[in-house]
Amino acid sequence: MTLQERIAGVNERIQQACKASGRNPSDVHVIAVTKYVSLNMVASVLKASMEHIGESRWQDAESKWEALGDQGIWHFIGHLQTNKVRDVIGKFQYIHSLDRLSLAQELQRKAKTAGIDVNVFLQVNISGEDSKYGLAPEEVPAFLRSISELDRVKVIGLMTMAPFEEDPELTRPVFRGLRELRDQLNQQALTPHPILELSMGMSNDFEVAIEEGSTWVRLGTVLVGHEEGS
Ligand SMILES: *Cc1c(COP(=O)(O)O)cnc(C)c1O
Repeated sequence: MTLQERIAGVNERIQQACKASGRNPSDVHVIAVTKYVSLNMVASVLKASMEHIGESRWQDAESKWEALGDQGIWHFIGHLQTNKVRDVIGKFQYIHSLDRLSLAQELQRKAKTAGIDVNVFLQVNISGEDSKYGLAPEEVPAFLRSISELDRVKVIGLMTMAPFEEDPELTRPVFRGLRELRDQLNQQALTPHPILELSMGMSNDFEVAIEEGSTWVRLGTVLVGHEEGS
């Protein structure tokens, strides 16, 4: 399959999931996750008019960003080490993995120095697996209070990862849990603006995530494959 065919196939599946759940497809954004593929594939993705690029490690992203950074909107989706903030600030417009106070404080410092704001998603471990990063859902209200003074750190959404399941239907409670948490947080008005965005859904489970309210799906394998030209 060509990249064009893969994109068309993904778009068709997004439309279907929106139809099934009464949602508007324009509320669902696709991030092309290019961590498995080369610079050439990133260039092809951008040429195909996809503008959102996701990478999970600065070491893997650096050469791609140096070549193509100004042609897309970049999302940092992986675990972010505090000492890597200086590398990604100002380059990645969105950080999907805020999970601790020390990281928020470093983002604030570096964003302030750069004279910018940084858009973040709080990563929440809804499934409760030990192997996953993220705040426990019950920790989120106190965390939001603890970062409320950090005026450069704009919490626009919540992010989660579901466990891999053969049957993606089994991921539904995880995605529903993130949506319900967002709605509860907004009722408590813990942020200056309501939290609107939900970053959830990967190649294996994005349709279920969309049915449960995802506004950003992060798609690697299904969209760009694992190797150049695949
Ligand atoms: C790799 C990765 C993805 C994309 O995974 P696929 O299953 O290939 O779509 C999405 N989100 C995060 C956080 C990732 O690390």
